[in-house]
Amino acid sequence: EYVGIDAGGTLSKIVYTHGEDWGYKKIATNRVAEINRWIQANFTNPHIHITGGKAGVLLQEFPVSAKNVNEFEATCEGVNWLLEQNGILSQIGSQFMVTNVGTGTSIHYVQQDSYERIGGSGMGGGTLLGLSYLLTGEDHYDKILELGRKGEGEGLNVTVSDIYSHETPPISGDLTASNFGKAAQMKDKAFSKEDYISAIVRMIGETITTMSVQAAERLKTDAIIYIGTTFSRHDTLKEIVKGYTELRGKQAYFLEYGEYSGAIGALLNN
Ligand code: ATP
Ligand code: MG
Repeated sequence: EYVGIDAGGTLSKIVYTHGEDWGYKKIATNRVAEINRWIQANFTNPHIHITGGKAGVLLQEFPVSAKNVNEFEATCEGVNWLLEQNGILSQIGSQFMVTNVGTGTSIHYVQQDSYERIGGSGMGGGTLLGLSYLLTGEDHYDKILELGRKGEGEGLNVTVSDIYSHETPPISGDLTASNFGKAAQMKDKAFSKEDYISAIVRMIGETITTMSVQAAERLKTDAIIYIGTTFSRHDTLKEIVKGYTELRGKQAYFLEYGEYSGAIGALLNN
């Protein structure tokens, strides 16, 4: 039995072989004892491959030894594997960007079997949780998702056409000129929790897309693969990222089980 674990800053993603099938499981990284118990209960003598920033923390607690795998390598290898399994690799070619939106965001460039980390940003899934809590007091993830879906985040932003109100703008007027920039209106108009969270989601989506597209342009690549648990079940974030990526002339891809890329890459590593 093989088990791949990606112990991230927030969530640990676990992938395991189950005969022909693969199983997938997520447990909060801070629940180390629970992760340990779950593994003990489900496997007798597993080969564990572990990656992620918290790999060392989990390893300390494991009674069995495990192999530590480099996070960026594992992530890109897992993405390669998922792209191949889904028949997308032949479609996009062997050169693409990977943007991993976890607690924070990491951007990678993949060419054949070489992986390079291009950059990153502190704007990520953790930002969504933290700012949502500060602005609305909500700290339940599903509640944050639900509220964000219903809001009108655009109302808090200044668009390019707001600025170029009396002339034709030099770039698309629909682009955001300033996230949360409508300070003047905020004094007269009340915004709802839904609007706040929607605007946070939009800011994160637009920012990571802008960074990804700029990196893709620099490396003359068209395909951007967006992964990380921040996207799972988050259709509004995916729509914003897809729309903004296409507006900038690039192609956005989301993978089923994309958030397990690191764990898959770790499992496959030998
Ligand atoms: P990093 O890669 O930065 O170390 P990570 O690997 O733990 O972090 P991911 O699991 O990819 O990060 O994504 C974490 C984000 O996923 C959270 O910040 C949150 O926005 C989102 N998320 C989705 N579902 C949950 C959940 N059930 N609990 C907490 N966060 C969730
Ligand atoms: Mg991660």
